[in-house]
Amino acid sequence: MANLVSPHGGRLLPLFVAGEERKESLEEAKLVPRVRLSSKEASDLIMLAMGAFSPLDGFLKKQDYESVVAGMRLKNGLVWPIPITLSISKEKAATIKEGQRIALVNSGNDEIMAGMLVEEKYSYDKRIEALEIFGTDDERHPGVEKIYEQGEIYLGGPVQVISEGNYPMQFAEYARPAETRALFTDRGWSTIAAFQTRNPLHRSHEYLTKIALEVCDGLFIHPVVGKLKAGDIPAEIRMECYRVLLNNYYPSDRVILKVYPMEMRYGGPKEAILHSIIRQNFGCSHMIIGRDHAGVGNYYGSFDAQSIFDELKEDDLYIKPLKLDNTFYCNKCKSMASLKTCPHGSENHLSISGTKLREILSHGERPPEEFSRPEVVDILIRYYQDEGK
Ligand SMILES: [Zn+2]
Repeated sequence: MANLVSPHGGRLLPLFVAGEERKESLEEAKLVPRVRLSSKEASDLIMLAMGAFSPLDGFLKKQDYESVVAGMRLKNGLVWPIPITLSISKEKAATIKEGQRIALVNSGNDEIMAGMLVEEKYSYDKRIEALEIFGTDDERHPGVEKIYEQGEIYLGGPVQVISEGNYPMQFAEYARPAETRALFTDRGWSTIAAFQTRNPLHRSHEYLTKIALEVCDGLFIHPVVGKLKAGDIPAEIRMECYRVLLNNYYPSDRVILKVYPMEMRYGGPKEAILHSIIRQNFGCSHMIIGRDHAGVGNYYGSFDAQSIFDELKEDDLYIKPLKLDNTFYCNKCKSMASLKTCPHGSENHLSISGTKLREILSHGERPPEEFSRPEVVDILIRYYQDEGK
């Protein structure tokens, strides 16, 4: 009998309202003041809707916000590393009272996505949030940049979500935590390793996931499909790469591929904790944390996202990190390896930087098969050549 880990905080709390309640929420939302969501806020709202951010019941209020920023915990003591917030300008905030209901609207198409009770509005210090969460106030950091771009006032309070936007239509692999839990249970799995990704998978990633698959019942490949930073490969292309890789190189009964709509913060260690909480909600027992997880540039040490888990108490999270080293093909071992398993010097290790790989592919050239599967390479060459036109 399968036995999955409990959701964070004890139970799933999807905030999507259905049926009669949805009708009422929508009618009411048409009559109240509207607040437009940034794309980050809209994708966070959908995460709340699906229950991926359980146990949050809406955008953070002041005490929870300050507690998360200062100490990585909600005020009730539960670990929470990155605040989930809704910002508006000072001018707009002056027109909204605490205790009032508002409608949250998608900036892209003006669709009403949710109703919200504004329990609190409060100011906050952008620089302190940046420093505490990202360890830097450098606005070239894409997570910091988003904080500096947003309004000066936060609104906190519970939400009732009416729409999950286009994601369910756009992605056949869209799935909510209750659904993946049912899938895992149907397959009889109780230990499931989650793999977070925002890139096409090359042999090194494949190797990481297969190390996990050697020790767990199942593997959950869970790419982020919310808006990425410039230069990242679009979700549709990555999905093609994942599907072709899974079809050709993984046992279909041991792997599940689903997507989630969050936007990356590129927050390194703190984002590794958030990624783990999310996967615990989806039903996973283990989270693969490789080198420089969720990092960007040189803001974080290679293994910061692993060591931050050592600061947690034993029962803070039920999901456990699988801390893995950098992996590569070794010409002497004649196999995939890592610094933990290979005794040979780095001159024997096949390594291609992201920039170099982009250059090779955009010229229509192929990296060695030990670096990337040919089926994946075909898709990427097509993408870069189309992009170059
Ligand atoms: Zn070796």
